[in-house]
Amino acid sequence: MQDGSKTCSRNDFARVYIEKDLLGDAVTERIVSRLPHAKIIAVSHYKDVFARSRQQYDVQKANRCLILARNTGRLIYDGAPMCQDFDMENFSYTNSVMNCIYDCDYCFLKGVYDTPNIVVFVNFEDYRLACEEKLKQGPLYLCISYDTDLMALNGLTGLCDKWTDYAKDREGLTVEIRTKSSPRDFVSSEHIIYAFTLSPDEVIEKYEKYTPGLNARLEGVNRAIDAGANVRLCFDPIMRIENFESVYKTFIGRVASAVDLNKVRDMSVGPFRISADYIKRMRKNGPMSEVAWYPYENEGGVLGYGKERAEDMTRFVTEELCRYSGREKIFIWN
Ligand code: SF4
Repeated sequence: MQDGSKTCSRNDFARVYIEKDLLGDAVTERIVSRLPHAKIIAVSHYKDVFARSRQQYDVQKANRCLILARNTGRLIYDGAPMCQDFDMENFSYTNSVMNCIYDCDYCFLKGVYDTPNIVVFVNFEDYRLACEEKLKQGPLYLCISYDTDLMALNGLTGLCDKWTDYAKDREGLTVEIRTKSSPRDFVSSEHIIYAFTLSPDEVIEKYEKYTPGLNARLEGVNRAIDAGANVRLCFDPIMRIENFESVYKTFIGRVASAVDLNKVRDMSVGPFRISADYIKRMRKNGPMSEVAWYPYENEGGVLGYGKERAEDMTRFVTEELCRYSGREKIFIWN
């Protein structure tokens, strides 16, 4: 089983809402058995809880609920322009979980949902069938950890295991699993890419609350490499922080001394950016958030640090990486 350290503890959710039809479902039962102290509440539809009006994001954050549901809507989406597509055709994503156990200040999810409550869609078989349908059109590159950190939740949901069991031998399918966790187990397959987001400890402490520190993430990276898994390192988002150059220089040096970059499949570099559509809700949900209230520049509906500054930051990180690795492995978001 793939697991992420600093993942869900048994007491993470005091209440679990379950759609009535899913009581007794195998995945539901597995999750409930891992939360023996949680109060179970049956509901007709997950949106009765997740999308109800007048929710108080900050209040709920201290006492998040888990909601188990069946996704009867769309299951696979085309990749957003905000995402690095690694030159892949049919770049798509899917969301078998909505919201995340971590709480990064810059997370776009704060701009999408009015609640930090987490929805787990337990109907994996429907997702698999949707993939099969899509694969009839050609190869599919699918990000499965998009609206969440799926690996960090794997100990509870087992969904990462289901995806990797399915994808590992499926011709035409490549899945990317993005994580900030520090997993112990990996599947070695050309169809699975483990994408680790790495940040300097200064950024982790300031903006990536509850995530494992850099050392723990690097240990996870090395375990993945030792297991023969495909590893991607994501230096994205790069955050504008005090002493930027010295912090990022030290950070890249630390990564390069801990990890054999020759054994990494590729790397991505990108400055923090967010869709302008999300910022209003992000500010409402994070009234004291420095990231939310930064005076960003708007370029074509994308908020960022401004073209010149963002390019300088990206160039700096890329050049530092090039001191230890070939440029051809590095994908740059622009
Ligand atoms: S780990 Fe990713 S999905 Fe989770 S809160 Fe942080 S940015 Fe959002």
